[in-house]
Amino acid sequence: MTSLNSAIRFHGHLGPWLVLGLLMGKYGLRKINAKKYFGLSLCVSGLHKKPKSCLIDGLQLSTGCTLGKGNIRILKSKGIFVNFKNSETNKKITLRLKDKILKQLKNTTGHSASERLAKILHKKTPLDIFTLSNKR
Ligand SMILES: [Zn+2]
Repeated sequence: MTSLNSAIRFHGHLGPWLVLGLLMGKYGLRKINAKKYFGLSLCVSGLHKKPKSCLIDGLQLSTGCTLGKGNIRILKSKGIFVNFKNSETNKKITLRLKDKILKQLKNTTGHSASERLAKILHKKTPLDIFTLSNKR
């Protein structure tokens, strides 16, 4: 498992979007029953701008899907959602952030408040943060 500290070392700072990516990847991987690194592909929508795009680093660390391997795609979109697909079984899911989490992110500004929120989010369970659907 990717520890938070190694994620911070890779990414350069602790932020809520990084933590969300770590948690989302771990949850999605489990939900489609995929093998890390080569057993899945991701399509990320609506997270192309900073700081939201920090989530993509968390996702890459937790799923092993990387831009270098080409099994993660980044699309521009108004809505935020991430499609997970198991490459072997074709099982697909879509994960979204709950409205209350988006609201918290929106209301958090400044370095220390962001770090605080990141730590709070890191302790939450996936069901507190994400909604899962089997449709695209
Ligand atoms: Zn960041």
